[in-house]
Amino acid sequence: MKKVNVIDHPFIQDSLTHLRDKNTGIQKFRHHSDKICQLLFAEAIRGLDFSQVEIETPLAKIKSLKLADEIIVVPVLRSGIAMLFGAMHLLPKSKIGFVGMERDEKTAIAHEYYWKLPPIHPNSVVIVTDPMLATGGSIAHLIERVAKEHPKLIRVVSVISAPEGLASINKRFPDVEIFTASVDQKLNERKYIVPGLGDYGDRYFGTV
Ligand code: URA
Repeated sequence: MKKVNVIDHPFIQDSLTHLRDKNTGIQKFRHHSDKICQLLFAEAIRGLDFSQVEIETPLAKIKSLKLADEIIVVPVLRSGIAMLFGAMHLLPKSKIGFVGMERDEKTAIAHEYYWKLPPIHPNSVVIVTDPMLATGGSIAHLIERVAKEHPKLIRVVSVISAPEGLASINKRFPDVEIFTASVDQKLNERKYIVPGLGDYGDRYFGTV
């Protein structure tokens, strides 16, 4: 699929196994979620702009590279927040925006109830995070609104994606690149990803 990067690093595959296992408890779930998110974010900043700076090592002066783009991470509340810990570990200078989307359990249609983003500039790279890219409805809503502010780029990071959601995002936003650890089989009738891992927010925050 166009613009979908499935990151199959061995550490990601190992952590994914722990996340999927229904017997994995909260502590282990958080550990593997944070680890997987750091690895996914490391991939999601590939190809961004770097500036050259001059530094001195203990042995010589050299020209070296520094990330130049301003990164804004936007987790979709609530489960997107679970991805923030990994993101902030890797990108401690990134700015954070919050978008609250609530999914109607019957229709699976999400509506926005909260929006607070830092100012978006022409060099801003907005990385939208939702660990389970299911129908893609919340992410599509967010991309649509963020695009109106003309950031340099919008990218999506999700842990597990459904083919239906990826196809929908790809079709509506062909320039938006998606980074995910897995493309699963399908959505079930309740719009949960199968085989998936259940409700990511419940398992990460302990609300099961
Ligand atoms: N959100 C989840 O947490 N899990 C799914 O399978 C789909 C949406």
